[in-house]
Amino acid sequence: VDLPIHDAVLGGAAAFGDTPALIDGTDGTTLSYEQVDRFHRRVAAALAETGVRKGDVLALHSPNTVAFPLAFYAATRAGASVTTVHPLATAEEFAKQLKDSAARWIVTVSPLLATARRAAELAGGVQEILVCDSAPGHRSLVDMLASTAPEPSVAIDPAEDVAALPYSSGTTGTPKGVMLTHRQIATNLAQLEPLMPAAPGDRVLAVLPFFHIYGLTALMNAPLRLGATVVVLPRFDLEQFLAAIQNHRITSLYVAPPIVLALAKHPLVADYDLSSLKYIVSAAAPLDARLAAACSRRLGLPPVGQAYGMTELSPGTHVVPLDAMADAPPGTVGKLIAGTEMRIVSLTDPGKDLPADESGEILIRGPQIMKGYLGRPDATAALIDEEGWLHTGDVGHVDTDGWLFVVDRVKELIKYKGFQVAPAELEALLLTHPGIADAAVIGEYNDDGNEVPHAFVVRQPAAPGLAEGEIMMYVAERVAPYKRVRKVTLVDAVPRAASGKILRRQLREQQ
Ligand code: ATP
Ligand code: MG
Repeated sequence: VDLPIHDAVLGGAAAFGDTPALIDGTDGTTLSYEQVDRFHRRVAAALAETGVRKGDVLALHSPNTVAFPLAFYAATRAGASVTTVHPLATAEEFAKQLKDSAARWIVTVSPLLATARRAAELAGGVQEILVCDSAPGHRSLVDMLASTAPEPSVAIDPAEDVAALPYSSGTTGTPKGVMLTHRQIATNLAQLEPLMPAAPGDRVLAVLPFFHIYGLTALMNAPLRLGATVVVLPRFDLEQFLAAIQNHRITSLYVAPPIVLALAKHPLVADYDLSSLKYIVSAAAPLDARLAAACSRRLGLPPVGQAYGMTELSPGTHVVPLDAMADAPPGTVGKLIAGTEMRIVSLTDPGKDLPADESGEILIRGPQIMKGYLGRPDATAALIDEEGWLHTGDVGHVDTDGWLFVVDRVKELIKYKGFQVAPAELEALLLTHPGIADAAVIGEYNDDGNEVPHAFVVRQPAAPGLAEGEIMMYVAERVAPYKRVRKVTLVDAVPRAASGKILRRQLREQQ
């Protein structure tokens, strides 16, 4: 735990030798563990020679590629903090992050170079833009592999030095820079590892983005630490995803609810041989038990296991252990990891601890809590109280056996005449309708000044005639009157963040 993250993850790499570490799922390019070990050290040396110094912030702006982990660990080995950037960020959004993080270096890929250049221009302060592949006028990681510079010997203090500076998803507001030290990330890896161990021979499909903390942990750090093989896809495309599972004999999927939804409902799934899969884990957003069951039934797998966390928690605090997936109660996000405390406190009477099975806000205390939001001491203090409890902003309850259930975010609860309605519950119910492909619910004030549920629904191609009234009726027949959906809007797609979360803010703004 007290190693810098590149050593914590790649400490065993040389010993895994020729085992494939990373495979590009689009063109088959493969890097062995020996190569990952050697290459990232070469790139670290070249970065140091270029002028990357301890404490510098390096922005890594790339979709998932086999070079992404090389760039990441090379940068931390050179002493930099890596701020990961959404590959689809606009130049303005990217510039904001560069400015906020005071980044001095950018590592990007040639197709994104124009955006990176524009962002650097807007932000100022960027010394050099490097590319992973190749582009005229820019140094590339490929060139750097030939570097003969000595490996940097940077003294890293795992307890204090920031390894990663991911930005939170921005679901509830502006994304915030989350300072995670080497120790915090390594601690969380060690906490999760006994419950969800990757093993040599496992083949993990990295379809969720590495730039988000979930992908960074579950798809990069954890499998590479244990000698598994990571097959990398640049984005979620259902056909490419299914073909990759089939062709690479993928054993382990770490996904978000929209992918579980596709696996449960999409007709294409039946055309592929997915028999290599051993388990599926979902995290990052609420997953309904019925949907999870539909997915595992269809694929003949153990129930989809869940995990829960947030960027500020490095990120995971709860998982359904791999060996407990068959027995865990449906819908649970898992059990609390070791070395971590949790409380469930009343929403109406803050500070009051609630008994088992009663829903309240989830509070967490443990060594994996972030160092702080970069440059936002007030926001940090608003999240973490003086006793060290982090207020997650999520509502949940724990059963008498310690299984946690997440209801929704406090901020998203719809308050109808003193009752509370969780959008996630209505979304899950809507998805049980065979004619509904996807759904999102927001609270909206009606003419009487009451906040009521408004559903945005995507119909299945096979159900083009499904009407708004029918949808409202379907819900009304299955819920208490105060939970009824009062308005339905048919849409082509539900807006989601890269981590799979519904962007309810966007739906509100569209109104
Ligand atoms: P921001 O804080 O910028 O608004 P965000 O909270 O969406 O964005 P993340 O750190 O990526 O950014 O997401 C953490 C949140 O994801 C948690 O607070 C919780 O609401 C949700 N979440 C994570 N795992 C689960 C899960 N298994 N079930 C339900 N919700 C989950
Ligand atoms: Mg958050």
